[in-house]
Amino acid sequence: MPIESIPKFTPPAAKLWDAIPTDTRKRLLSNVWCGKCRHDVTITNFSGAVKGGDLLLVGKCAECRGDLARLIESKGSTGGSAGG
Ligand SMILES: [Zn+2]
Repeated sequence: MPIESIPKFTPPAAKLWDAIPTDTRKRLLSNVWCGKCRHDVTITNFSGAVKGGDLLLVGKCAECRGDLARLIESKGSTGGSAGG
């Protein structure tokens, strides 16, 4: 699926999403916890919105088609010196 195209994101959500490196996006989308499957799954058919300054992705589980939601903190880091 083309990650570049943003399907159903609100403008502020699209802005946050756009700031995330493609590599990280792929990882975020393929590591969403599903409470029904009881393991990490890929989120599909997702849309994005901003909640309390954080990016909230809402979509469907690729395996059980259940509802999924993932909150991505836009700025969540304590301390941060150059490191690997
Ligand atoms: Zn599932």
